[in-house]
Amino acid sequence: MTGQVTRRDFLNGMALAIAAGVAPSHLFAARMGVAPYPPSLTGLRGSQPGSFEVAHALRDGRGYDIDRVAARENVDLVVVGAGISGLAAAWFWRQRRPNARILILDNHADFGGHAVRNEFNIGGRMLLGYGGSESLQSPATLWSEEAKGLLAALAVDIARFETAFDQKLYPSLGLSRGVFFTRDAFGVDRLVTGDPMRMVADDIPPDRMNARAVTDFIADFPLSADGKAKLVSIYTSTRDPLPGLSADDKRALLEKTSYRDWLIGHWSLPAPAADVFYGRTLDFFAVGTDGISASDAFDYGYPGFGGIGLERDDEAKKEMEDPYIHHFPDGNASIARLLVRKLVPGVAPGSTMDDIVTARFDYGRLDVEGAATRLRTDSTVVAVRNRDGGVDLGYVRDGKLERVRAAHCVLACYNMMIPYLTKELGKAQREALASNVKAPLVYVKVAVRNWRPWVERGVHEIANPMGFYSRLKLDYPVSLGDYRFPRSPDEPMVLHLVHVPTLRLTGVDLRTRLRAARAQLYAMPFDTFEASARDELTRMLGPGGFDAERDIAAITVNRWGHGYSYAGSTLDDAEGDDERIPAAARKRVGRIAIANGDAAWGPYAHAAIDEAHRAVGELSAALAKPVKAAR
Ligand SMILES: Cc1cc2nc3c(=O)[nH]c(=O)nc-3n(C[C@H](O)[C@H](O)[C@H](O)COP(=O)(O)OP(=O)(O)OC[C@H]3O[C@@H](n4cnc5c(N)ncnc54)[C@H](O)[C@@H]3O)c2cc1C
Repeated sequence: MTGQVTRRDFLNGMALAIAAGVAPSHLFAARMGVAPYPPSLTGLRGSQPGSFEVAHALRDGRGYDIDRVAARENVDLVVVGAGISGLAAAWFWRQRRPNARILILDNHADFGGHAVRNEFNIGGRMLLGYGGSESLQSPATLWSEEAKGLLAALAVDIARFETAFDQKLYPSLGLSRGVFFTRDAFGVDRLVTGDPMRMVADDIPPDRMNARAVTDFIADFPLSADGKAKLVSIYTSTRDPLPGLSADDKRALLEKTSYRDWLIGHWSLPAPAADVFYGRTLDFFAVGTDGISASDAFDYGYPGFGGIGLERDDEAKKEMEDPYIHHFPDGNASIARLLVRKLVPGVAPGSTMDDIVTARFDYGRLDVEGAATRLRTDSTVVAVRNRDGGVDLGYVRDGKLERVRAAHCVLACYNMMIPYLTKELGKAQREALASNVKAPLVYVKVAVRNWRPWVERGVHEIANPMGFYSRLKLDYPVSLGDYRFPRSPDEPMVLHLVHVPTLRLTGVDLRTRLRAARAQLYAMPFDTFEASARDELTRMLGPGGFDAERDIAAITVNRWGHGYSYAGSTLDDAEGDDERIPAAARKRVGRIAIANGDAAWGPYAHAAIDEAHRAVGELSAALAKPVKAAR
C-alpha cells in the first residue's frame, strides 16, 4: 500500500506481523507483553493466514494421534467453534447447569466466527464495521421463541433499532441506488443513478428511494435499443411467459430453470442486457443469476414475473417485507460479544445492548485458569471421540497437539469438517455432512476520510453486476450507545464492498462451482482486493471526486472461504434433500452433538442459535453422568 494508506497492522503502536500471517496474534502479543486486540487488525482477516492450515492439512491426510498426549483439562462441556452457534450452545448449557465448566475452542484469532467486528481509528475517531454476519434477519417474524428468548436474555430489544437506525439520512440527502456499467463488459464506464429495484433485504423505505421511473432509469443504460426495450418490459409487463401451465407445473419449471435462462429464454433478453442482473444475486445468494433458480428470483422480488400468477413463498415474503434495520454498528458481532460478556464475567464492562457497542474487551481474560468458562482462540480441533463415558478431543495450538477430556461435546464448527474429526460416523451421516459445501464470499471494509464523492454522485449504494465488487455502499447509519454514526459527508466513513468469487461454469452443480470458487479465492492475495477497491471506487466516483491515494485510510479484507451454509439448490438437488440431508447430518453421536447454522442448511444467526438449542437439548440429562478422567 502506498501514500497515506496504512493497513494499521498495529497493536498499541507496534507493527503486527500477524495480518500478513507470520504468527498467531496471541503469540505475537505475548512476546510483546500485551493482550491481543483482534478487532483492530486490518489486512487479510476472516479466514486469515494462520487460521486454516491445520484444518487443511487434516483434510489432506495428516493424522493426529491424541493417545500420545495426556489430557490436561477435564470439563463438563467442550464446544468446538466460537461462532454465534457455539457461544449460544455454551449459554444454553450454562442455563441448565450453572456450575458447569465449559471450554470453547476456535481456530481464529477472534471469537464470533462469521460475526466478527472490524474496528478502525480514523483521526482519533472510532469507526466500526462488520466483517461478516451483518443483521438480524426479520427477528419479529422469522426468529423462534428460543432464539428470541436468547435475545431477551442478552437485553436486546429489537424495537430499539427503529430509532437507532436512521432510515432517513441517505434519502434526506437526495441519494439513491445506482448501477455501474464496467467498460470491460459494457464497452463504457457509466454510473446510472435512481435504481427503482428493491433489495432482497431493504433498509430504505419504499417511498424514500429517490428512484426514477423504470423507463427513464433504463434509458441511460449503455445497451442496444432492443436490449433496453426488453429490459423495460421485464419490469412492467404483465405477460405470463408460461400460459396454460398449472401453478404446480409453473413452480416446478421455475425451480429447474436458472434466473439467467429465464431472462434469456422466456423474455428474449440479449446477453448484455441479462448481464445487468448478473451480480445482483451475489451478496444474498453468493452465486450469480446462472446459479439461482427462477423460483428463488421470483420469491425474492427480482423482475420478470409480473404475469406469472403465483403466490410468493411465505418465508421470503417475511424477509422482503420486514425493514432491514436490525443492525448493530459491528453487525452480529454484537450478539457474539453480548454472549461472551455473559459467559466470561469481567471480560468487558457494561450490561446493555447500547453499551456493548463501544465496550472494550480484554482478550487476556478470555482463557483464564480456574474460570467457569474458558474461550481459547487460535486452536484448531483435529480429533473427537467418544470414550469411557466421555469425550476425548485433540486440538492444535501453536503447532502443538493438546488433549482435553469432556463429559459432553457440541461441534458448532463447519459441518463438512466433522467427518475429518471423528471416525464414528456411518456412511450416510458422513456423506450428508460433507455435502454442506459452504459458499465463499468476502466483505471488504474501506475506511475513507470523508464521503463527499458519494453525495456528489448522488448515491449511497452501487450495484456493479459485472465488476469485481458486486456491491459497494456507505455503511448502515446506526447510532447506538456512545457510538455516533457519521452524519456529515465531511466525516470519515466505512465503506462496505462485497466480492463473491464466481466462475461461470456450465454443466456443473452448485457444489462444484462453490468448491472451484473457493480455490480461486484462496489464491487471491490482499493486493488484488486493494487494487480493485482503488480502481473501481475511482472509476465510479471519480475523476475529480474520489482520490484513492488521498481518501482511503485503511482496508480490512474479511475473507470467508467457508461462508454461507449450503442452503440447497432446486436446480441441482432432488426434492426433499433440504430436509433429508440436514436431518441425517446433524444426528447426535454418543456424547457429541452437532450445531452450527450448517445443521439447518441456513446461513442465518437465528438458525445458528436454534441449532445450538437443539444440540444442547439432545445432550440431555440422561447423558449427564460424571465423566471418568483420562490418563
Ligand atoms: C459474509 C457473511 C455475511 C452474513 N450475513 C448474515 C446476516 O446478515 N444475517 C444472518 O443472520 N446471517 C448472516 N450470515 C450467516 C452467518 O453464518 C450466521 O449469521 C452465523 O454467524 C453463523 O454462526 P455459526 O456459529 O453457525 O458459524 P460460524 O460463524 O461459521 O462459526 C463457526 C466457527 O467454528 C470455527 N471452526 C471450524 N472448524 C473448527 C475446528 N476444527 N476447530 C476449531 N474451530 C473451528 C470456525 O472457524 C468458526 O469460527 C453471514 C455469513 C457470512 C459469511
